[in-house]
Amino acid sequence: MDLTPQAQKPEEVQLDNSLRPQKLTDFIGQQQVKNHLKIFIQAAKQRQEPIDHLLIYGPPGLGKTTLAYIMATELGVQIRTTSGPALERAGDLASILTSLSPGDILFIDEIHRLNKTVEETLYPAMEDFCLDVILGKGPAARTLRLDLPRFTIIGATTKAGMVAAPLRDRFGAIHKLGFYKPAELAQVIQRSAKILGVDILPPAALTLAQRSRGTPRIANKLLKRVRDLAQVNQIDQIDQSLVNQALDMLEIDSQGLTPIDRQYLKVIAQHYQGGPVGADTLSASLSEDKRTLEEMVEPFLIQLGFIKRSPRGRLLTPAAYQHLGLKPKENQLF
Ligand code: ADP
Repeated sequence: MDLTPQAQKPEEVQLDNSLRPQKLTDFIGQQQVKNHLKIFIQAAKQRQEPIDHLLIYGPPGLGKTTLAYIMATELGVQIRTTSGPALERAGDLASILTSLSPGDILFIDEIHRLNKTVEETLYPAMEDFCLDVILGKGPAARTLRLDLPRFTIIGATTKAGMVAAPLRDRFGAIHKLGFYKPAELAQVIQRSAKILGVDILPPAALTLAQRSRGTPRIANKLLKRVRDLAQVNQIDQIDQSLVNQALDMLEIDSQGLTPIDRQYLKVIAQHYQGGPVGADTLSASLSEDKRTLEEMVEPFLIQLGFIKRSPRGRLLTPAAYQHLGLKPKENQLF
């Protein structure tokens, strides 16, 4: 199951949107982040000023976009969305920024993928709320300084380490979203089930939650698959056995691993003696995009303690061998 934003189909984007909580109180889990944001919102409302620029990072599907929309709703302002790769030229950014109203939020997804020119145009905009536009070319070129309304950038990234330091420093607050606990995901599932008009028993919701890789987007997708199965079989209430049937069909194992995760682990175990093996080599061996591996596959395997990242590459841990039912080599490095 490819879950990168670029791999999302239109109906999946629609599912994301329809299940998106609108208010901070409906956003499940991530208590610390919510506490900070609540204070941020209250303080900005009292001062009647826009909030500081905000950077949110964490693996895909954990709620970064959702939080940006919630901030806009809670503050009663408009939100415009774009992404790092979509802003190809400084002019693309300028046309968005000049169309904002005071207090508006500009959400930039995948902000680590902004190109240098656009990024440098963003600096004075974030700091001094102005844009330097170059008119003409060569010796006759002039710089025109345009004032912008006070606005807020909410940046999202799966790779905080790849956000250049000068850009990172311009954010007033940086928040990290971590994987969700099964009990929290069970709440996400129950909430989504209500919106989708399906009935799911608590133990069934918990099983689904345990197999959702700590990620609300996956929990929602799995729920939708089980709902389809229930509908085809004319079952009114989703129970444990239906959930198990769906998970078997999707080849999702007891830890929530999908075929690509298992293949990833097996390749390291069987072709590279447990590692260390570099990301490029793994990407070539699996015929899978390196970014997909780094952003979608590895974070959860690291969280489970199945792989470790070392300067020389990825290493399998004893827990991974146990999960795969394989024996490490005698001279295995751990
Ligand atoms: P990201 O921007 O981090 O990739 P999204 O904000 O698009 O993730 O969230 C993906 C889906 O998961 C959305 O449909 C949203 O409804 C759901 N979701 C994410 N976080 C939560 C949460 N804390 N509570 C309820 N639903 C959530």
